[in-house]
Amino acid sequence: MAAIELRGLTKVYPGGVRALDALDLVIPDGEFFALLGPSGCGKTTLLRTIAGLETATGGSVVIGERDVTGVQPGGRDVAMVFQDYALFPHMDVTDNIAYPLRIKKVAKTTRQAKAAEVGARLGLEHLMDRRPGQLSGGQQQRVALARVMATQAQAFLFDEPLSNLDARLRLEARTFLKKLQRELGVTTVFVTHDQAEALAMADRMAVMEAGHIRQIGTPAEVFQRPANTFVAGFIGSTPMNLLDGVAHGGTLEVAGCALPVPTSAEGLLADGEKIVYGVRPEYNAYAAEPAADALGGKVVIMENLGASHLVTLDVNDVMVQAIVPEGREPAIGDQGWAVPRRDRALVYRDG
Ligand code: ADP
Ligand code: MG
Repeated sequence: MAAIELRGLTKVYPGGVRALDALDLVIPDGEFFALLGPSGCGKTTLLRTIAGLETATGGSVVIGERDVTGVQPGGRDVAMVFQDYALFPHMDVTDNIAYPLRIKKVAKTTRQAKAAEVGARLGLEHLMDRRPGQLSGGQQQRVALARVMATQAQAFLFDEPLSNLDARLRLEARTFLKKLQRELGVTTVFVTHDQAEALAMADRMAVMEAGHIRQIGTPAEVFQRPANTFVAGFIGSTPMNLLDGVAHGGTLEVAGCALPVPTSAEGLLADGEKIVYGVRPEYNAYAAEPAADALGGKVVIMENLGASHLVTLDVNDVMVQAIVPEGREPAIGDQGWAVPRRDRALVYRDG
């Protein structure tokens, strides 16, 4: 097992797409690291460059103590699981799992024993003679995992491994994969475009945009304190309210209402400075009665979240979302107030 260190890693594809732009990243040994970002931001390129399947245009990749920048994929000692699993359709489960060992010229009886051991660990023991076409999506995914585990690599690289599973299986696989990684303690880079998956699984995570890392932190840090409006808008099951505002002394003018400066921005704003005011709906409580330090408006949309509702208020033509607990839902057209938590609201200057 080994740490992964990327220094100034750059990848420019022929044709000029700068998929990775001087990326610096250190993933300590044994960490479950999630790489999150929208489609096309460079996640797959980053994994493939760590694995050696793409040649870096600049910078270096260090795995353990070893600089592997010029090393062929086979010599890097990392194992990658692809989005489509890349199983061999003509081989049964045993041979699929044992395939990397065959490449390493491990004796047949040894590799079959290893495949059986890993297969059993992943609950595949009754399926070892089947071919991929005779397996469900979830079972195929386990075979792909088993194949990676059989290699005993220094690091695992997962490229959206759960995205082909249906919603329920995906939740099960999350827990399963996380538990497995804990037990094995292998450094893992897990790529996903699903923010909930990254928040749920990662020890630490990075949010990428257009070849750049915009923030690195624990899920709690990234959720509570997104570094900029891009990350703020990307993280969270309901998007953060990002509202234009202006600082006036100790208060902010936001959507025609006066709000106190958030705790985190106290003393930092110049008079007349234009800002973006950020508050998650979860920290923006709905009130049916007039409230101080609130955004008042008319209820225009109600969305059922299960145990609560997401209320959208039209506040002087600005849409503001707040959460209302079960049983206190207003009606469309009601007058209402959204009261942001001052210790949770944020101020951005990059909007
Ligand atoms: P993600 O996995 O985050 O969706 P990718 O790493 O696949 O992103 O792609 C990053 C950028 O690089 C995109 O603009 C994509 O179109 C481009 N790209 C990916 N692979 C190639 C390639 N082989 N040749 C040229 N451009 C590529
Ligand atoms: Mg991708």
